[in-house]
Amino acid sequence: MAGEPQADCLFCKIVAGEVPATVVRESETTVAFRDINPQAPTHVLVIPKAHYPDAASLAAAEPTVVADILREAAEVAAEDKVDTSGFRVVFNTGSGAGQTVFHAHLHVLGGRGFNWPPG
Ligand code: 5GP
Repeated sequence: MAGEPQADCLFCKIVAGEVPATVVRESETTVAFRDINPQAPTHVLVIPKAHYPDAASLAAAEPTVVADILREAAEVAAEDKVDTSGFRVVFNTGSGAGQTVFHAHLHVLGGRGFNWPPG
């Protein structure tokens, strides 16, 4: 069923506490934890507790949780004090865009400069 935990999903295991992660925030619908391979001084992933393979399928099924994720991202940026210098949020969606873990997640990156367009 849509949104149900998947036995073979790494991020479902992090939500369940079966795989360790450095959790920085948790809400009723989301978990935020530090990326294991950070690409910036702040690199946090904000994920829905429910399993959806990508941001588009999450938005179609539970649009309010997308808003929850963005609100949590802003809180992470404020807590890491990167909100004033600027931070970047990214949903890689599909392998062609660089998605490697197929449980929706928002990257929150900050603490360094960023180029545009992204690579
Ligand atoms: P994607 O490439 O799908 O947009 O992002 C997946 C992210 O998950 C990558 O930045 C990668 O470093 C991170 N990641 C992969 N495995 C783990 C893990 O076991 N723990 C944590 N905290 N992050 C992970």
